[in-house]
Amino acid sequence: MIEVDVVVIGGGAAGLFCAIEAGKRGRKVVVLEHAERIGEKIAISGGGRCNFTNFHTGPENFISANPPFCKSALARYTPADFIALVNKHGIAFHEKKLGQLFCNEGSGRIIDMLLNECSDAGAEVSCRATVQSVTKNERFEIKLADRTLRSQSLVIATGGLSIAPLGATDFGYQLARQFGLQIEPTAPALVPFTLTKDVLKQLAPLSGISVDATASCNGNMFRENILITHRGLSGPAILQISSYWQPGQAIGIDLLPDHDALELLSQHHGSELSLVKLLSQFLPKRFAQAWCTLNSLSQPLNRYTPRQLSEIAGRLHHWKIVPSGTEGFKKAEVTVGGVSTIELSSQTMEARKVSGLYFIGEVVDVTGQLGGYNFQWAWASGYAAGQYV
Ligand SMILES: Cc1cc2nc3c(=O)[nH]c(=O)nc-3n(C[C@H](O)[C@H](O)[C@H](O)COP(=O)(O)OP(=O)(O)OC[C@H]3O[C@@H](n4cnc5c(N)ncnc54)[C@H](O)[C@@H]3O)c2cc1C
Repeated sequence: MIEVDVVVIGGGAAGLFCAIEAGKRGRKVVVLEHAERIGEKIAISGGGRCNFTNFHTGPENFISANPPFCKSALARYTPADFIALVNKHGIAFHEKKLGQLFCNEGSGRIIDMLLNECSDAGAEVSCRATVQSVTKNERFEIKLADRTLRSQSLVIATGGLSIAPLGATDFGYQLARQFGLQIEPTAPALVPFTLTKDVLKQLAPLSGISVDATASCNGNMFRENILITHRGLSGPAILQISSYWQPGQAIGIDLLPDHDALELLSQHHGSELSLVKLLSQFLPKRFAQAWCTLNSLSQPLNRYTPRQLSEIAGRLHHWKIVPSGTEGFKKAEVTVGGVSTIELSSQTMEARKVSGLYFIGEVVDVTGQLGGYNFQWAWASGYAAGQYV
């Protein structure tokens, strides 16, 4: 039996961060990671350059059944705090767009930083460590194949369900259930949409073209690129809106978010100009062509009645597409839902019903939008728990 103060299950962003903070307080910490290496998702994140935070992080960037829950942790560990840590380690970074901060070199710099901080704080990291069972009497007993650990605090940082080959499991949800805690239903998020064969066939000429547009659903709207692919819809605006979508719902796309389409069309109503030529001034030419063909709109503008122009304007601003589904957890960046926040203290991340049991990071029902917010939640929730475990 090995006695420690804190066992952290999951050696990803949140787990390592919590271990560092607890270690700095003099707690004896062991991180158990079942994969060969820690931080596999950090390694591939941000296209290999880890979008590690966002300057503009606020509670409004997160989805949860209980939106105010994330406020406390986010306020106590901010993007500026993480940037200070990155600077301390001499890691060069840049703002790509919209407050998103990426490493100039690879994501490996962030992993090395976390490992060095763990080592400085005296936190032990153990890979290829598969937990067989967890029980609790006075203390937690965590049984592995080759040893049993006993700890005062147990932190669950096993992340979400996306991309199983990188180590994702439902361990955290199972453990929460074992201790009688509620789970908000989980679903893939920040994920491309799939389309039916018929819709794909119709959209085939638009495939491979991206347009700057807005995507909306359920009262949420994102302005960025939309990409039509040979499988469905992708691009940042689509990934963002996927987190808010429910099966069966339509996605609204505004192809001309900066213009009043009816005004534009009406201005050229008397002209021989074709709709394709007009739209090519605002959309990629190939897209304008294919979109007009798709909608059987090949005539010069002076051939349309005012009513038809108004209908065309409507289609440009409110193009509705009903996805058949999503690409699922194998392509999703994150999981919405998770351990219900009503079960946890927002101050400490400790389960209200089970003293000493903590949940942090993506396993909790707090999901960030695209743009570095998910890592900021991992750091902030890991920091919060790290002060108390
Ligand atoms: C392709 C991709 C790109 C992304 N890019 C970004 C980005 O640029 N910016 C951003 O903010 N977010 C990004 N994300 C999301 C971000 O990676 C996650 O939200 C974040 O890693 C969550 O941190 P976590 O510590 O909660 O979980 P994870 O980082 O997923 O860590 C969980 C760890 O627990 C381990 N584990 C699971 N089950 C067990 C078990 N039973 N026993 C022991 N260990 C276990 C896993 O192997 C893993 O190492 C991306 C995600 C993906 C998939």
